[in-house]
Amino acid sequence: MYLDHNATTTVRPEAVDAVCAVLSATGNPSSVHGPGRAARAVMEDAREAVAALVGATPAQVVFTSGGTEAANQVFHAVPAGPRLVSAVEHSCVLAPAPDAEKIPVTGDGVIDLDWLERRLAQTPRPAVVAVMLANNETGVIQPVAEAARLARAAGVFSFCDAVQGVGKVAVELGALGVDALSLSAHKFGGPQGVGALVVRDAAQMRPLLVGGGQERGKRGGTQNLPGIAGLGAAARAVRDAGAEQERIAALRNRLEAGIRAAAPQAVIWGTAVARLPNTTCVALPGVDQQRQLMALDLAGVAVSAGSACSSGKVTASHVLSAMGAAPDLAGATVRISLGWPSTEADVDRFLDAWTPLARRTAS
Ligand code: PLP
Repeated sequence: MYLDHNATTTVRPEAVDAVCAVLSATGNPSSVHGPGRAARAVMEDAREAVAALVGATPAQVVFTSGGTEAANQVFHAVPAGPRLVSAVEHSCVLAPAPDAEKIPVTGDGVIDLDWLERRLAQTPRPAVVAVMLANNETGVIQPVAEAARLARAAGVFSFCDAVQGVGKVAVELGALGVDALSLSAHKFGGPQGVGALVVRDAAQMRPLLVGGGQERGKRGGTQNLPGIAGLGAAARAVRDAGAEQERIAALRNRLEAGIRAAAPQAVIWGTAVARLPNTTCVALPGVDQQRQLMALDLAGVAVSAGSACSSGKVTASHVLSAMGAAPDLAGATVRISLGWPSTEADVDRFLDAWTPLARRTAS
């Protein structure tokens, strides 16, 4: 029973069909003959779907191998200078900006806009501000539009890692006011290994990969057409995902009510602020996260301890420590993330497996 949809979610049937259709055809989107033109038509159709999903134009969409590449491209493309990135960013933003100054967050995990405004006033240009849309561990939604407004007023480039937000909450390039945002198909029902960088002024974006001039010179290499077709289909499927997200939010509320009833001592992170409808990040004081994960895994329930690291190694969460969480509480935290296939039965089965752990520690 899978409750780790922030790590990756189940591919939607529409996306499976779109991927399979491309796999059983032949054609390189850069070829000028008929099969090439057919491949290009598939690709441009997907580009339109992605653009429509985030309120952009197709020309603003650059296909990438996912959220990590998109974030790396941004930091590669912007001129050298100070980088201000939120303390709770994903490692795909933190790693390409190793010298970045961290925008602090409150105990609820929301960036300190006053700090950002003050720091921007003292920051030499050119500079970059990066604030994610929603945190992958806690689901906490950031005031991206306000941060982007401050950056714009200061003449500073702004980037938003919208990977966890797209498909779960409305995302609009214009309303966010950022210069660039990233998205990743496998977080909203498309295949893994494909995503997009959406850039307000694509002409200014330097490529990270150079080669055959694909993506109007913004990303070299033959496009991952099956992946792109799946991304486009998933983008269309989540365009009107309001009802789906309401259903998921109701499931999340059922989950949290069950957690509170079973373990009044549990701490659910970020409940006082806006969060994704699908994410619960909960600490069970006194029960190490590894013990929780193992007990749940034995019961056939897959959740995670914050972010899934490629090595499978779980390290202390930089997100929770930026929020000021005590190390033992951070180490007792697990993340449950629901997705489009989740049901009430899944929530109840999680509670059945988790509640005995809570009972053993309740005094
Ligand atoms: N940004 C956030 C917030 C994420 O949660 C993830 C994936 O875990 C990424 C970026 C990386 O995206 P991708 O897996 O497409 O490289």
